[in-house]
Amino acid sequence: MFVPLGGSGEIGMNANLFHYQDQWLMVDLGISFPDESMPGIDVVLPDLSFIEKRRKSLAGLVITHGHEDHLGAIPYLWERLKCPIFATPFTLALVRAKLRENLPDAKVDLIALPFNAPVEIGSFSVEMISLTHSIPDPAGLVLRAGGKTIFHTGDWKFDEDPLLGPVSDQNALKALGDSGVDVMIGDSTNAMVEGRTGSEADARDGLIKEIKKATGRVAVTCFASNVARVNTLVHAARETGRSPLLIGRALHRITEAARSCGYLQDWPDLLSEDDYDLVPRENVLMICTGSQGEPRSAMSRIASGSHHSISLDKGDTVMFSSRQIPGNEPAIAKVQDSLIRRGIHVVTDDDAPIHVSGHPARDEMAEMYQLIRPKLAIPVHGTARHLKAHAALAKSCQVPATLIPNNGDMIVLNDDEAACIGTAETGLQTFEGGEVISIDSDTMRDRRRMLWNGSVTASVVLSLSGDLCLAPQISQSGLSEGYRADDYLAEASIRIEDAIMGLSDEKVMDDQRVMDVCGQALRGLAKSMFKRRPMVQVHVMRVDALSVTGE
Ligand SMILES: [Zn+2]
Repeated sequence: MFVPLGGSGEIGMNANLFHYQDQWLMVDLGISFPDESMPGIDVVLPDLSFIEKRRKSLAGLVITHGHEDHLGAIPYLWERLKCPIFATPFTLALVRAKLRENLPDAKVDLIALPFNAPVEIGSFSVEMISLTHSIPDPAGLVLRAGGKTIFHTGDWKFDEDPLLGPVSDQNALKALGDSGVDVMIGDSTNAMVEGRTGSEADARDGLIKEIKKATGRVAVTCFASNVARVNTLVHAARETGRSPLLIGRALHRITEAARSCGYLQDWPDLLSEDDYDLVPRENVLMICTGSQGEPRSAMSRIASGSHHSISLDKGDTVMFSSRQIPGNEPAIAKVQDSLIRRGIHVVTDDDAPIHVSGHPARDEMAEMYQLIRPKLAIPVHGTARHLKAHAALAKSCQVPATLIPNNGDMIVLNDDEAACIGTAETGLQTFEGGEVISIDSDTMRDRRRMLWNGSVTASVVLSLSGDLCLAPQISQSGLSEGYRADDYLAEASIRIEDAIMGLSDEKVMDDQRVMDVCGQALRGLAKSMFKRRPMVQVHVMRVDALSVTGE
């Protein structure tokens, strides 16, 4: 049985479950990023209630590669699973670094998996096949159980010149196809992009050409995890007479992990943030985090002129060697605007070929289907439009059956067909104040209501016999301003008095009852005056009337 808990119908937050006999296996545990309906949230996590209840029969978590949307939730959710984690060495080095930083006391079994050698995990045989992507060591997974073979691609593309690490293992893919594959579960990110994605070598050539054209300082921002791109930039610096400098914590953390796995052994000495300004402007190449406009990143701070040690000036150049993740466009535009306003030249992948995607376009997907020839294709890793386009492509590649999953679908693979037999709990969570909470919680609902509708607070002081001792104290924020707000507060005070007077002697002694009628009065007035439904809070205090009036 296959149960996606995240990543089917969305890009990000990948989390997949496989079940055979009485054992579960989890593949990937990623995060996604919040949209405008999630104010104040930094990270979005999948709800794992379904597998938490079955934790004792969870044999392990296998990670396909080191991107945040595949492993970013481990520090937040591992303690709810407490299972061993399996991955290729570079991916495992990233997991280890995350655990060291976030769960230093956790005793986690981290097990490195080799390529092309099946291992037993619970009731499954799991084999990693080497692919190419935009990070080192990406793996496709072959899962075998009960006479069935499933190929879960993870994220991939066919890059004939990846610049770092091996090319995709076409022989292993062909042999897998020849041995018979029942189901292929595959990446749909570029299912609507014609042709081929292009090689990392194309991005290198484009970057070198643009860097040669630039005059002052050059800063290039890219994903820190794209180690091949970072490596390209370090070598491009040498080729263009510049010295490289890495800016941003993530870049240092990931290149350290890459070095521990044998990559990046031939790097020259890098400049440091303390001495880079001793080097002439035309001899500096900065490699920075912040390609998505993240407000606390190196590039955002440099763009606003608030970085503690790095500065750019008129005539310098910034290159965005990355794609814009949907949803991040406004943040990226803000950074680019502040650079342009300061006379800094901005180059993006719309202006020059300085970026290639890490996912397969349609020609590569067709090639993969020719190699694997599955009986059933299940597209994942995409929005509904991506999944539909991928399913249509699989059909055109003579795949006999396709099934588009939703998060939570419990898909059983029978001998001749696949069927959805139920729904597992799914949902969104976040991490705040040291704990994982549901995005549908009261806190989040209140926050959205305050953000969009404002808030009103009233304090009501009653005597021990239930009479109002003082005029109600009312304040509002985000509802209105000036005389309109004054009118609201004055009218609200009268309505609260009326509401309390309208209560019977018995009901006025019940705090909850008083809160309810006052809340209704405040909400009703806000609705009639402003057509808004603010967040309302009412405090009820009961005091000895003599102590208030001073008699
Ligand atoms: Zn990826």
